[in-house]
Amino acid sequence: MTPHFTSTIAGAPRIGARRELKFALEGFWSGALTGRDLSQTAKTLTNAYADQLAGAGLDSIPTSGRSYYDAMLDTTALLGVFPERFHDVADHDNDGLPTHIDRYFATARGTVEFPASAMTKWFDTNYHYLVPELSADTRFILDDSALLGDVQDQLTRGINARPVLIGPLTYLSLARSTDGSDPLDHLETLFEVYARLLAKLPTDWVQLDEPSLVTDLAPDLLQRVRAGYTRLAQRGGVFVNTFFGAGDQALRTLTGIGLGAIGVDLVSDGVTPLEAWTGEELLVAGIVDGRNIWRTDLCAALATLRRLQARGPVAVSTSCSLLHVPYSLTPETALNPEVREWLAFGEEKVAEVAALARALAGEVDETLFDAAAASLADRRHSVLTASRDASITDADRKRGPFEARLAAQEQALDLPPLPTTTIGSFPQTQQIRSARAKFRTGTITAQEYGDAMRAEVADVIARQEELGLDVLVHGEPERNDMVQYFAELLDGFLTTANGWVQSYGSRCVRPPILFGTVTRPTPMTVEWFAYAQSLTNRPVKGMLTGPVTMLAWSFVRDDQPLAVTADQVALALRDEVSDLVEAGAKVIQVDEPAIRELLPLRRADQAAYTEWAVGAFRLAIAGAPDEVQIHTHMCYSEFNELIRSIIDLDADVTTIEAARSDMQVLAALKSSGFHLGVGPGVWDIHSPRVPEPAEVAGLLTAALESVDPKRLWVNPDCGLKTRGWEETTASLKVLVAAAEQARSTLLQRA
Ligand code: GLN
Ligand code: ZN
Repeated sequence: MTPHFTSTIAGAPRIGARRELKFALEGFWSGALTGRDLSQTAKTLTNAYADQLAGAGLDSIPTSGRSYYDAMLDTTALLGVFPERFHDVADHDNDGLPTHIDRYFATARGTVEFPASAMTKWFDTNYHYLVPELSADTRFILDDSALLGDVQDQLTRGINARPVLIGPLTYLSLARSTDGSDPLDHLETLFEVYARLLAKLPTDWVQLDEPSLVTDLAPDLLQRVRAGYTRLAQRGGVFVNTFFGAGDQALRTLTGIGLGAIGVDLVSDGVTPLEAWTGEELLVAGIVDGRNIWRTDLCAALATLRRLQARGPVAVSTSCSLLHVPYSLTPETALNPEVREWLAFGEEKVAEVAALARALAGEVDETLFDAAAASLADRRHSVLTASRDASITDADRKRGPFEARLAAQEQALDLPPLPTTTIGSFPQTQQIRSARAKFRTGTITAQEYGDAMRAEVADVIARQEELGLDVLVHGEPERNDMVQYFAELLDGFLTTANGWVQSYGSRCVRPPILFGTVTRPTPMTVEWFAYAQSLTNRPVKGMLTGPVTMLAWSFVRDDQPLAVTADQVALALRDEVSDLVEAGAKVIQVDEPAIRELLPLRRADQAAYTEWAVGAFRLAIAGAPDEVQIHTHMCYSEFNELIRSIIDLDADVTTIEAARSDMQVLAALKSSGFHLGVGPGVWDIHSPRVPEPAEVAGLLTAALESVDPKRLWVNPDCGLKTRGWEETTASLKVLVAAAEQARSTLLQRA
């Protein structure tokens, strides 16, 4: 039997504590760095991180080899299944990089000729992976030399390395079919391919990640998975890890077939369902939260681990890869010192794992456990987290009936049929970004920065009037990010200096930390709105980020239900809504692009989520009088399965991404009897391409077939901040012209 390990983490971050890999990638893409530079940076980072884990006392070190973009894409490369359209991409001699690195980056980023593979959210996290494209004809051809080389390197360096791979079930479950066949038809074949690969890996342990095992799966599929892993288990030392949900289904499926270890996420789900664990395999207990930033309650964790240990062998681990949290608290010297004591980033979590493993072996570090308990007690009793008696009633979440609102709004707004609008942001030019950078570093004063932004607003208003748009926006030049902007202005949030987390490829984000009672010390957007509205007679939208999206893109407190936190954010936004109304706003948009993201992975948990998510949104907006039109906006996902909840939001108008996904949402709008105003996007803003007039007209015609013309709005898919002015102006001209054309057709018919 393979000797057990006692302490590890589920997976390692790749981007580097100072985002070294990001800068190396961007340098390589721009031609400033060579392949050798890039591969050397990746190697240095991988080695340094492995050394750090070993130095902290972990006795099994996860390693995925050097990764240059994404682990799903690494698997695609490993299995030799890049999309066919990239097979002709020539292999340059990129000294030190894998042979097919050009295909790899083409798949991730596209070429002049072909679009990149789709990218989508990794389960319910904010990390994005590259979606594999498979067909019935796909043949897997192992290309494992890079991986084997990197693993051998670690062993040679004296690291007790444990390769981490994405498991066959998860890889295929997340793949997209290019010919209508089911990617899971390849399951048995892929298990055979993995069997060959595993046999070549020279390590004691191999980890296969199967987060798909925490989702709803049919019994016959689970049977096939069990059969496949029975085959793989013959190698010995096979560890199947699960995360992002309860491990009961995984344990029932995988126990008793000779696996060496099974990993479960004890943070998502507590310990009750572990009945299914027989004690036969090593249980890798993911008890330190891998995706949130709070210090672990070490005493409680140790008690749980001891209970488990009474039933079988246990190793201590994180609930998921540390990819999802910042590297270290060390550089965060400017954080509120009280709150800082409550936090654990990656490095601190590794120390927690090591301390728990030592304690489980009988060596409890009293000082450390006492410190954890003290910080927990402080957090619990701090005024910063004190609950505030909100006494919210159902009436606070209700507006008047839609028909009455609509009548009042028609009077107040006097809009043409098929009104045109945009989603909020206009191009964030180099000029805007450099003004912000200068303001941050103190090169320009607040007054100068404000003047520069007001000039941008004035410019954006003039351009929209010129284009003939009906409902205008101020353009959001003052916002670095739609969540961070509000997090900086609300109490109860803090932002970090260096808390970067990989979002995809070379892109990193710094999620704010929602640590305490959320309140709004002063109005946040009213001045910008009022200035913009003062420049035009057309209505300008007040523009806010909704409570669910604020939560989804932040680290949130784990000491009270999300529903309670969401209501607190909603109450702060409600005050902002009422101040905007006071300042004369006739239209207010509350964005919820992330509402789909927090949807629980298992159907059984979904209704409870939509209830509080919808409730929080309604709490934010329901203070608005009938004549004020409330808009919301959503994107980044398919919303068909959420359409009922979108209706429940009761926004007067919902603008929704549609052009990019071929207006698939229209069928759902029609069959759900969507009775509210809706603007399915008619311009896919994700590329600089200016749409042809016929394209936009076609999308609009399709929309008119599914939506009552009296309720239909004309708008792009999403905000325009990543676009340039040239394509923005040209595309909006096309959009306005299409709306005018459709209007006159409607009038002729009437
Ligand atoms: N109002 C935001 C913008 O236009 C919405 C962004 C989003 O949907 N992600 O930028
Ligand atoms: Zn959007």
